[in-house]
Amino acid sequence: RQAAFAQERALPGETRDGVRIEIFMNAGLALDMPHLDATGAAGVGLFRTELQFLIGSQLPKVEAQERLYRDVLERAGGKPVVFRTADLGGDKAAAYMKRRVEGNPAMGWRGLRMAVDRPGILRPQLRALLAAAAGRELFVMFPMVTLPAEIDAARALLDREIARRERRGKPLPASIRIGAMIETPAAAWRLEEIAEKVDFLSVGGNDLAQFYFAADRDSDMVQERFDPLEPGFLTFLRMVIDKAYRAGKPLSYCGEQAADPLMAAALIGLGVRRFSIPATSVGPFRRLVRAIEAGAVAGWLKDRLEGGAPDGVSLRDGLAALLAD
Ligand code: PEP
Ligand code: MG
Repeated sequence: RQAAFAQERALPGETRDGVRIEIFMNAGLALDMPHLDATGAAGVGLFRTELQFLIGSQLPKVEAQERLYRDVLERAGGKPVVFRTADLGGDKAAAYMKRRVEGNPAMGWRGLRMAVDRPGILRPQLRALLAAAAGRELFVMFPMVTLPAEIDAARALLDREIARRERRGKPLPASIRIGAMIETPAAAWRLEEIAEKVDFLSVGGNDLAQFYFAADRDSDMVQERFDPLEPGFLTFLRMVIDKAYRAGKPLSYCGEQAADPLMAAALIGLGVRRFSIPATSVGPFRRLVRAIEAGAVAGWLKDRLEGGAPDGVSLRDGLAALLAD
């Protein structure tokens, strides 16, 4: 059984018709890193750095951040790790941070908004990332982007930290690539301008669906109500994916929805070629990829999205029937 697992995780993520799918995993702790080898994931596509901010009783010191990031990079053994800068606020508020009570924290002062207003949080974090990745590849991704100008503000802070290290004669990463998370409809709408300012893009499907459907991701009352496998949302995602490719920027999808096999199949049909999913989903996801024909799903989806629903069958049921064939 062990041998069978070892064999399976070495298999490429490739559909029956030969489309390569890159499978990365999500992580947030050094403890998650052994899953890289255990699952055969290509790297960490989303490292949620805020976990370190949320478990302590104060802002983590720059040294502690650097230690964590270096440890993570070492444990990754050369596989790429995309560090998402702290997405604080919203559903990820740190108890020690003084802040006003907000009626709608998910739409409040969070993510990149907070980071550019409070460089005292983002700058030490960038400093720690630059130090930990000295001599290696560094991937930094910014959460909750709404306007292109926010990327400029974050980039300026990064440039200041790079200059600071240079002034001190300290080694820099071998390469630095920055990415934007697409998790607000506003960012999706202006994707071309955002794409110009970054090296890669990543759809945060949890938040993007939350804001698309105006349905709180933490509310049981509305979570079941809106299936992301819905023609409107898929058409919206198709716009995002097409814009990213037209801009020539790599795009990944890192919402937990991709752990749903039918949603994953649809995303592949829409053209997503890189995913970052929970470690526990990597094995089943690879099996799904190897079982489907991307071309057939793409063709079926195109007809379904452009031609409408035949006799009221839901997209989910129609896709399930196609895949069962
Ligand atoms: C997302 O919003 O889809 C995402 C990947 O980020 P998080 O779940 O951490 O908000
Ligand atoms: Mg998010």
